[in-house]
Parts: sequence; structure tokens; C-alpha cells
Amino acid sequence: MTDSTEIGAFVQGSPHPSWLSDSNGCCIYANSALERLTGVGSLQLEGSQWLDLVVGEDRPQTRVAWHESRAGTRSLRVRVCIRGTSPDICAPVEVIGFGHYVAGVGELWLFTALHLHAPTHQHPPLEAQLQATLNIIPVQAWYALASGTIAFVNEATASYLRLPQPHHLRYGADVGGTRESHLSYIHPEDHPHARRQWSACLRKHEVGELQLRIMSEPGSARWFLVRAEPLRARNGDLLFWVGVNIDIDDAKRAGEALDVAKERIARAAQVATIVELSTSISHEIVQPLSAVVANARAALNWLSRESPNIDRAKSAIEGILRDGMAVGNVMHEMRRLFKQQEPNRSTIQMNDLIVQVLKVLEPDLRDRNIVVSLNLSTELPNTEADAIQIQQVLLNLARNASEAVLERASSQKEIKIRTLFSDHEVTVEVEDSGFGIVTPERIFEAFFTSKDEGLGVGLSISRSIAEAHGGALVATNLEDGGARFSLTLPRSFSPTEMV
Ligand code: ADP
Repeated sequence: MTDSTEIGAFVQGSPHPSWLSDSNGCCIYANSALERLTGVGSLQLEGSQWLDLVVGEDRPQTRVAWHESRAGTRSLRVRVCIRGTSPDICAPVEVIGFGHYVAGVGELWLFTALHLHAPTHQHPPLEAQLQATLNIIPVQAWYALASGTIAFVNEATASYLRLPQPHHLRYGADVGGTRESHLSYIHPEDHPHARRQWSACLRKHEVGELQLRIMSEPGSARWFLVRAEPLRARNGDLLFWVGVNIDIDDAKRAGEALDVAKERIARAAQVATIVELSTSISHEIVQPLSAVVANARAALNWLSRESPNIDRAKSAIEGILRDGMAVGNVMHEMRRLFKQQEPNRSTIQMNDLIVQVLKVLEPDLRDRNIVVSLNLSTELPNTEADAIQIQQVLLNLARNASEAVLERASSQKEIKIRTLFSDHEVTVEVEDSGFGIVTPERIFEAFFTSKDEGLGVGLSISRSIAEAHGGALVATNLEDGGARFSLTLPRSFSPTEMV
């Protein structure tokens, strides 16, 4: 490195406190890392002796080392404390200095100070204050240099990351990291968007927010909402980025579970529609089966005569064969459709299913300002049922109720859900404040709907699910308007109750 501009660029870009002096020790230039450490800017330093940067008691030995280095015996290497404008600042560093001969300029000395360790009180006041503040707040927080290099993490973050006690991020010590050094703490799958977002933030000097997984030890990571804000000086200059990491792992995982539940409910709805369709297909077999029975009777008649009519019997039997095969085909198709939906009974708690279903509907209900009042019996016994199918029934009743209350815009938009039980049954009642049911005798018919967009299969499927569980689904109009749907299922008994 012989060109003075190259040396200047090196000093400027160095993440470590660095400065240049002439052969007499007179400062020519100092970089911003030195200014951050000491509070003294390049312009103030220019023309003064760099030895003045060293605290008084370390100065004699530094002066000796500096004279020896200049005499050409070796490069400078001393461990000293650097002082700053504030009496609090006393940063222990190792100063390394090299002399260069630069054509046209003469001898230039380049100095770099490497932090040995950097306890809080040795930082410039702002950083010290920042560190102290971030350390007492109970959330994970950190700050980064304006360049984007994470410089410090607070106690909460350090303990989550399991950083060893003497770790540079705990003290805000500058070890020459880059704006990507922190990626080693982030889940590899999140690197691309973490990199993109952080660059955008640094480029625009704007608040940035993103969700990513931060690792605490190999193989274990949690989701965080990371928010970074620029911290500016009075004149608007960007000083640091201050950030917080908010743990959203539980909410994120609950959201994922909810998506899975929604998908399962949607699938159950499909399966139930198939059940309904296959019910109509079953009509397809009633007709050929009646023909089979008629033909079998006829064949018997033709054969039981005194002189049996073999030809007629033969054609009746051929008819049986034909219709039998048609039924066989229909049965085969139906078996294929039914295969996927073996009822999967287990012990369920109706109150839990209601809460799960309401979670699925929550965004819709909130958007439509519909209030749900719950009155769930705390002693509700369990029941044996297919949880997915029962969820589907509850979902359908709650959806119908919310559509009913929306129709009657003047009334209070409220749905009441109540659970109760008797010696043998568990009941859920879903009440709404709509107009009530116009044609109660028809609503459980398949494909009956009074809605423009309705399919008219929800209630018929729901009733068949209730009946398949040995229960019932009934509807009543309420006196002051609105409707009540009651789903009743047999309660399960504990072994002690059965004796
Ligand atoms: P869909 O709602 O898709 O039309 P459903 O089987 O769920 O099919 O309901 C059939 C019909 O029953 C509805 O079209 C509506 O006329 C009536 N119905 C269902 N729930 C209610 C309710 N809570 N209040 C009034 N009428 C209802």
C-alpha cells in the first residue's frame, strides 16, 4: 500500500478505531470508529499529537515504544487505555502502528486500536446509555451500527442466544463484523428474506419489520417479530439501529394448527357432500334391485310350473344378471367414495369443539360485528363422536346463524351458544336473533335453500351426521324472533358411572 488515497480509504472503512499521523506523531486523519470511541472528531484531532489520545499514566511507555518503532527497529504494538472527551471513557485497547513511505507525501503512520474488552462504562455516553437501557428492559433488544452491523445485544437476547459470558455482543465491542454477521443466529431458510429486508431498511433508513426464526442452539429455533428503528442525532444523522425481537412462536404455531384445522374441516365438508351424493346414488340401486326381485320371482314361477318354461325362466335370469351387474357397479363406485370417510370416533369434549370452531369463524364474525355469547356448562360430560364431523355440524349451525342475524340488520347481531346435559345426553344450542325459519318443515331436505348463494345441503348433512351418532338435530323458532338449533348426542359414561 503506497498510495495515500488507498491508505485514507483503508482507515475510513476500517471498523476499528484507526488514525493516520506523520512521522512526528501529528494526527492527519481519524475515522468515525475512533470518534465513536473517544467522542473526538477527525477535525479536532488534526494537528494534535496522537499520543494525547492515550491516558496520562500509559503515555510514558507508549512514547518509548513509539520512538523505538520510528527508529525502525519494529512496528508499534502497545496495550494502553485510550481516553476521550468524557472522563468516564477509558477504553483498554491494543494499538498497532506501521510506518509507510508514500511517494510525494513522505512517511505516514497508520494506527489501529483493537478493543481488548469493553465494559459498558468505557463506551461513549450514548452507547453506554443505550446498553444500560436495553439491558433492563424485559424483552429481547439490540442495536446495530448505522452500517448495519449488529454491535450489541441485551441480556435477554444474549441468554436466548446462549452467548458465552465474555462475548463481544454482550459488551458492544467492535470486532469488525459485517452487516451480515448476525445471519449465523438466524434459521438458514429465513436468510434470503432477512438479508433482503435488512438491506431495504438500511437503504431507505426506515423502520423495518419482519418475521423470522432465531436459533438458540443448533436444531432449536423460535419465531420472532423483529422490528428495527433508526436512532437519529438531533441534526437527523443516523446514529444506530435499535431493535426488538418479540417472541411470536406460540401464536405462529397456533396459527399453523388453525390452518390445518380449517383444511380438515373443509375436507370433512367435501367428504360429507360425497356422503350426501352417495345417498342419492343409492336410489340408483333401489330400482335395479326391485327388478332383480321381480325377475327372480318370475323365474321361480316359470320353473315351478308343471311344464317349466325354460326359455322364459332363462330370459328372467338374464335380466337378474344384467341388473345384478348394474347394482354391483354402483356398489363398487359407492365403496370407492365411502372409503375415505370411515367415522373416526373418539372421546370428545363438546365445549372444546365449540371453541375451536369459533376460532375458525372469528375473523368473519369480527368483520360483521357479530357478538357470540357463550354459556358453556363447566361440568359437561364427554361424548363419543367423530370430532371432525361434529365440528362440521357446529360450523354449519354457526354460519347459518350468522347469516340469519345479518339479514335482520336492525336487531342486535348476537349468536348465543349454550351447552347443557341430562342423564344420557349432551346438547348444544345455537340461537340467533334473525327472522326465524320460514319453512321449518323443509329445511332438513337435501338441496332446500332460501338463499341466493345457498346449496341447501348443510342442514341435511348435519342431521344425518347427528343421527349416525345416535343423536338428533332439531330446529325451533323462538317467540321473539330468531331460531334455535339443538344438536343432541349421547354422552359417554365413565366406567364408574356404568356400574
Ligand atoms: P344453505 O344455508 O346453504 O341454504 P342449509 O341446509 O344450511 O343450506 O339451510 C337450509 C335452509 O334452512 C336455509 O336456506 C334457510 O332457509 C334455513 N335456515 C338454516 N338456518 C337458519 C337460521 N338460523 N334461521 C333461519 N333459517 C335458517
